[in-house]
Amino acid sequence: DGKLTDKDANGHKKKKAKPNKNPGGTFQSLDLYPSLLRALLLRGFRLPTPIQRRSIPLALAGRDVVAMARTGSGKTLAFLIPIVNKLKAHSERVGARALILEPTRELAVQTAKVAKEVSKYTDLRIAVVVGGEGLEDQFEAMAGNPDIVVATPGRLVHLIIEMSLSLSTVEAVVYDEADRLFELGFAPQLREIQHRLSPNRQTSLFSATLPSLLVEFARAGLRDPVMVRLEAEGR
Ligand code: ADP
Ligand code: MG
Repeated sequence: DGKLTDKDANGHKKKKAKPNKNPGGTFQSLDLYPSLLRALLLRGFRLPTPIQRRSIPLALAGRDVVAMARTGSGKTLAFLIPIVNKLKAHSERVGARALILEPTRELAVQTAKVAKEVSKYTDLRIAVVVGGEGLEDQFEAMAGNPDIVVATPGRLVHLIIEMSLSLSTVEAVVYDEADRLFELGFAPQLREIQHRLSPNRQTSLFSATLPSLLVEFARAGLRDPVMVRLEAEGR
């Protein structure tokens, strides 16, 4: 009568077709903080990209993650979603709770913009700390007790020293574009920053390529990290 059988030619039970054709699930199925999920959905993000699908659950579970995937694969949301999900709302306690390190001012500004979008329905405060901009505005931004700081290493170290900032309240640190961050020029600044971080923080490292030296992983202070590596895989 044209009805489909639930057995295949070998008599094995067929998998039922699910309304959700995406095997990795949706952002909806990740059990995210409602204000975060709302911002993602209203921004038109419904399905995680492969790198997001694999790294977000690990980060949500508290693991340190080393994620490698090509440019344009969606790494920004892969690290921002777990951070916003963890912080949820502004804290009156003094000190930043998440730190995102970027190798260039442009990348920092861009990441902060995405962070503001996804935390649009929260009262999280986000500060951008980058070189080439007036120090006064950044002093002010840091004095406003931001929850999330997106920074380039040089300017952050400058502010740390000038304002005697402590980074001991940082619960999650992200090294974005880690291969570029770990270029030797940033080594002294990264050391300054790392000395001030709590050993209990969560650390994630995102990159398009594998950083060439193992010592660089040590420099980031990763603890039993999970490696997620997507080769030529598409989105
Ligand atoms: P990468 O840092 O890996 O180079 P980005 O994080 O900048 O990549 O993301 C590349 C583009 O993909 C951006 O325009 C971003 O808005 C888009 N994007 C990210 N995640 C998703 C998603 N889940 N669904 C649709 N578009 C996405
Ligand atoms: Mg990126």
